[in-house]
Amino acid sequence: MDGNEILLLGLGIQSPWKLMNQYLDTDKQPHELHLEVKAEQASKYACPECDQLCKAHDFQEKTWRHLNFFQHHCYIHTSVPRVKCPEHGVKLIDVPWARKGSAFTLLFEQAALTLVREMPVNAAARIIEITDKRLWRIVEHYVGQAIEQFDLSGLKVVGLDETASKRGHNYVTVFIDMEKREEPVLFVTPGKGKRTLQQFSAFLAAHKGEPEAVREAVCDMSPAFLKGIEETLPNAEVTVDWFHIVQTFTQALDAVRKQEGQIKPLPKHLRWGVLKRGDTDNLTTNQLKALAELLDQGLDTATAWRIKERLRWIRLAKTPRAARWRITRFIGYARELIGESTLLEPVRKALATLENHAERVVRRWTSTYTNARMEGLNSLFQAARARARGYRNNRTFMTMIYMIASPAGAVLKST
Ligand SMILES: [Zn+2]
Repeated sequence: MDGNEILLLGLGIQSPWKLMNQYLDTDKQPHELHLEVKAEQASKYACPECDQLCKAHDFQEKTWRHLNFFQHHCYIHTSVPRVKCPEHGVKLIDVPWARKGSAFTLLFEQAALTLVREMPVNAAARIIEITDKRLWRIVEHYVGQAIEQFDLSGLKVVGLDETASKRGHNYVTVFIDMEKREEPVLFVTPGKGKRTLQQFSAFLAAHKGEPEAVREAVCDMSPAFLKGIEETLPNAEVTVDWFHIVQTFTQALDAVRKQEGQIKPLPKHLRWGVLKRGDTDNLTTNQLKALAELLDQGLDTATAWRIKERLRWIRLAKTPRAARWRITRFIGYARELIGESTLLEPVRKALATLENHAERVVRRWTSTYTNARMEGLNSLFQAARARARGYRNNRTFMTMIYMIASPAGAVLKST
């Protein structure tokens, strides 16, 4: 076996392909090893459509980046034949070392994916010395291919939530199978409105699922989601998960605190103190002090905080009936505390939302799929944001969500 044959073996290249020439370009930093591969004269090539052996019509020059040869970048150059198939016309043939349209060999792409499993994409891109944009394109290709294989038959309970890929804009909506503990993500799509439901139901139908078979949907209280579910998942009952109730009141509290803070001085260290749980979360001494001061001074922020903390009393109800009763009592109690205060308008709105959706909230007492799964989505979003950092947009963020928490993550494991 000579050196040429060893190189070809490393590339996975066999007849009719032959290594014709090789040279090391030492003018470049790092040095570049160039391999010229050619198909043997007079052989016939398979039409990429029908495999029929055809003669070459002409040739096109192509170059692929291959695995580094020690510290040198390595490129393969070939005149790729175009066959003239009697049935399919003139077609560029497939080469065994690369997929159609890629500027990298399969081995290079596999090595890249192996790195992406271990580290953020921009770090992996630095190591293999390509731009993160090109590496993302490789990752997106393989993840996309895996998504096409998703099988959604048997889906009965779906959870959905939206999040921003960047702070405050570019929303994506994520759909999960509430019955799956591992890799629950089914579908990710840009936006956060009714349209995301239409897209999900089309995706479901295209992947062996039936929109009619979905009997429960778990989500927040956004009217757009509710409308979308009604229109596209006709047999699904909506459950509002507890996580989103707490979120609604926490956001209202934060809005009150900000507004009141503009009018009068609030105790220091208050911001995180009021957002944490008053009973179990670890409040720092400073936060506890701030809370005590807050309650002493009879501020509106204190009222909003009391109301948020009181929510737990609803959640501790043992039966749907008790829960329904507690929601009514809670709303009455909270409205009395609020009185005529204009600063507390955000809390007033939160109460109206809760009142409107009370029955959907009560459903969580009969549904077995709540909270933990939806809360888990939040940490998924954070992880995806971190791993897509440096080059984050809707597409990379969505790809990362699929990679971390859907069966498409397997593309990184099987290589
Ligand atoms: Zn053909």
